[in-house]
Amino acid sequence: MVDLKQQYLRLKEDIDHAIFETIQKSQFIKGHNFNAFQNELAEYLSVAKLIACGNGTDALQIAMMALDLKPGDEVIVPAFTYVATAEVIGLLGLTPVMVDVDQKTFNITADIIEEAITEKTKLIVPVHLFGQCTDMEPIMKLAGKNNLKVIEDTAQAIGAEYRFSDGESRKAGCIGDIGTTSFFPSKNLGCYGDGGAVFSNNLELAEKMRMVANHGQSVQYVHDIIGINSRLDEIQAAILRVKLQQLDDFALRRNLVANHYDKELSQIEYLEIPYRQANSTHVFHQYTIKVKNNLRNDLKDYLKSKEIPAMIYYPKPLHKQKAFENLGKIVGNLEVSSQLCSEVLSLPIHTEMNLEQLNYITDSIKSFFNGK
Ligand SMILES: *Cc1c(COP(=O)(O)O)cnc(C)c1O
Repeated sequence: MVDLKQQYLRLKEDIDHAIFETIQKSQFIKGHNFNAFQNELAEYLSVAKLIACGNGTDALQIAMMALDLKPGDEVIVPAFTYVATAEVIGLLGLTPVMVDVDQKTFNITADIIEEAITEKTKLIVPVHLFGQCTDMEPIMKLAGKNNLKVIEDTAQAIGAEYRFSDGESRKAGCIGDIGTTSFFPSKNLGCYGDGGAVFSNNLELAEKMRMVANHGQSVQYVHDIIGINSRLDEIQAAILRVKLQQLDDFALRRNLVANHYDKELSQIEYLEIPYRQANSTHVFHQYTIKVKNNLRNDLKDYLKSKEIPAMIYYPKPLHKQKAFENLGKIVGNLEVSSQLCSEVLSLPIHTEMNLEQLNYITDSIKSFFNGK
């Protein structure tokens, strides 16, 4: 699905230098690279403050811990997402309210959210799934009207850009109160281990998040609130500084792959290629097609027989997971989420794909559908 080895070899000189320099300095936690990376990513995103942390799941937890929520408060999340988004909601004693998604964009919409709002609703967590922004403008209006906070889960969409109706553009994660992201190796901006970040234009919230991520500490050995220990280590920060320089190029490379898939696959009757919104760029964390007529699993098996990996993100919606059985609330029948789980298939997409690989994949898909 990704070729991290080939990417490393292409960037080897800079990455090796970054790693060895860190070891030579031997300041492994919160050194020069940690600070520089936070500033550089904040600048790239045009956001006031960014705090790097241990991983994308921690990032969501830190964000929610900074919001002064109380047990029983309701948090609206899409049912079609990675479990991490909702897991921390349960962990903090909050109530995940699982709502359906739009069948074209795979993301939640203001209309869907509106039906789920009650007196207990405090927070909305849109997920910019697969690399394209959730339609944030109507969601921010709705949140404002109902006095709700918004945390954007940007683990799959770092660098994507959303355009408002007045022409203003903002990067994913910088529209709501807080953005969170992950530097898991296969993410668009991935390190060589675990990493994540929270960011905000609200300086007060950012300071609270900095404290939460660092044992609730205001100044050294003074702990004002209960926090956690979540940090990005110096070697990962050094690697991420190198890769951040490449992030726009990574997105471009992924888009070239996506354009090729679009062109080759759009004519196949039983396939639906990813929908492209006019008001968001797409960074193609995943290239996810929908396969109709119950042919998804057969196609996946066929591709596997040709040594082509393809993955189902995600096979089960949150509301059908045992962990959420007695925890969350469900709004509506969530039929789109359920149907997507039976139709979606994500094809290999990464920064190192070549035309030969791409043609082999699209030819194989075409030959599967030949005669169907
Ligand atoms: C990867 C991911 C996370 C969690 O990130 P980790 O770094 O693995 O903890 C959260 N939300 C979404 C949508 C993700 O894709």
